[in-house]
Amino acid sequence: MFRHYLLPDISQPGKVGCTLPPLDVPPAEPPPKELLREELALPEVSEVELVRYFTALSRLNYGVDTGFYPLGSCTMKYNPKWHEDIARLPGFAWIHPYQPIDSVQGALKLMFQLQDYLAEITGMSATSLAPMAGAQGELAGIKMIKAYHRERGDKGRRKILVPDSAHGTNPATAAMCGLEVATVPSDDKGNLDLKALAAMMNDEVAALTLTMPTTLGLFDPHIAQISQLVHERGGLLYGDGANLNSLLGKVKFGDLGFDCVQLNLHKTFSTPHGGGGPGSGPLCVKSNLADFLPSPLVVKNDKGYTFTSPAKSIGSLGAAYGNFGVMVKAYAYLRSLGAEGLKAISENAVINANYLKEKLKAYYHLPYDRTCMHEVVFSGKRQKAKGVRTWDIAKRLLDYGFHPPTIYFPLVVEEALMIEPTETESKETLDAFISAMREIAREAEENPEILRTAPHNTPVARLDEAAAARKPDLRWELS
Ligand SMILES: *Cc1c(COP(=O)(O)O)cnc(C)c1O
Repeated sequence: MFRHYLLPDISQPGKVGCTLPPLDVPPAEPPPKELLREELALPEVSEVELVRYFTALSRLNYGVDTGFYPLGSCTMKYNPKWHEDIARLPGFAWIHPYQPIDSVQGALKLMFQLQDYLAEITGMSATSLAPMAGAQGELAGIKMIKAYHRERGDKGRRKILVPDSAHGTNPATAAMCGLEVATVPSDDKGNLDLKALAAMMNDEVAALTLTMPTTLGLFDPHIAQISQLVHERGGLLYGDGANLNSLLGKVKFGDLGFDCVQLNLHKTFSTPHGGGGPGSGPLCVKSNLADFLPSPLVVKNDKGYTFTSPAKSIGSLGAAYGNFGVMVKAYAYLRSLGAEGLKAISENAVINANYLKEKLKAYYHLPYDRTCMHEVVFSGKRQKAKGVRTWDIAKRLLDYGFHPPTIYFPLVVEEALMIEPTETESKETLDAFISAMREIAREAEENPEILRTAPHNTPVARLDEAAAARKPDLRWELS
């Protein structure tokens, strides 16, 4: 099915893609014979064929620049191209990590101000820009919490409490830090079960890690009680702030009682998420944890800006200073939006998600029927009763030209469909998506087979996705 995209099919002996000019220097000796291959199976194509081949391949890709991409928890919003231009300015892009500090004062000033802005946005007192992913920010945060308890001589705290709706990186982070993971259930409204938390929160618990809004797209209204309970019993409250799109300019993690939070600049702050990086997961903390932050931090003294390492730092997380280009884009984003612009993001992100929720809830089961934040989680269980899985609904969406939402996550919702429209989508786009989802719900009733065999008009259909990711076949071979 994929074959007409393959180069070997258009290869013909004798065709060439480029013509070299005649030699104007003496020919060099070829490399030693044992290094030369007798047969090198290269396709022979003309330049225009090669251009068309790569252009055809590039069109097989789906991205936020080609269409709506409501992948919940991933915030696949449109990121202004202008910020890429700013990150590419020679003064930012061409500096070297080890050049003299007085020659990079502008870059350090940008980092210093970004540390400040992020602390302000989260209601915290200090920021480290060092982590290079959300998961790495989490790792640094839990390491700091461990160091904090150890320093106080509180040695028995070996457990991390993680809600059952959490992102997989939360329990993985705790395990990487050598701590035990205990799962806190959600209640029937989708909030953290307070009774269960009270029963589990003892002097063996180092911290509760909480995503806000939860991965069900809900704001937990008991956050003040949760924070009080955890702190009263000597624990700390870790915030997973990967998805800040609904809180920007409105709610601060610090005000909610969190001790630290990691942000994903590559979701919320103008760097595209996905594609394998680069990312940035800054860690913002209250003063009780500031001395433990990963290094380096940028500070200002009478000679200007310089790097420092906090007194009891957990150390560095990688080479140099983190992903600087991502910081430049976040800085440009914040400066161009200003405080009012940030508020508009969260307002529109929340309105868009609630619009989808209201327009689709008659068609798909809505396990938690309440105002959502930046994303809404439906269940495909009504369709499952007709023999159609959420998997099939996602595949059918491809035929309608949409990237499917996140599916089968969070784990606490049967046949989950997690839809995050983001603030950058127009009402027309949302309406087109709503029509497609309604049409698919009708097909599930009347013609379930068309869903079970979808997609019907993509170059490839149902791939083994695990094998495609783990054992990619990136080579072509002449037949
Ligand atoms: C994306 C995400 C993470 C992990 O971020 P990475 O940069 O991919 O490591 C953690 N928690 C939540 C809730 C997320 O959505």
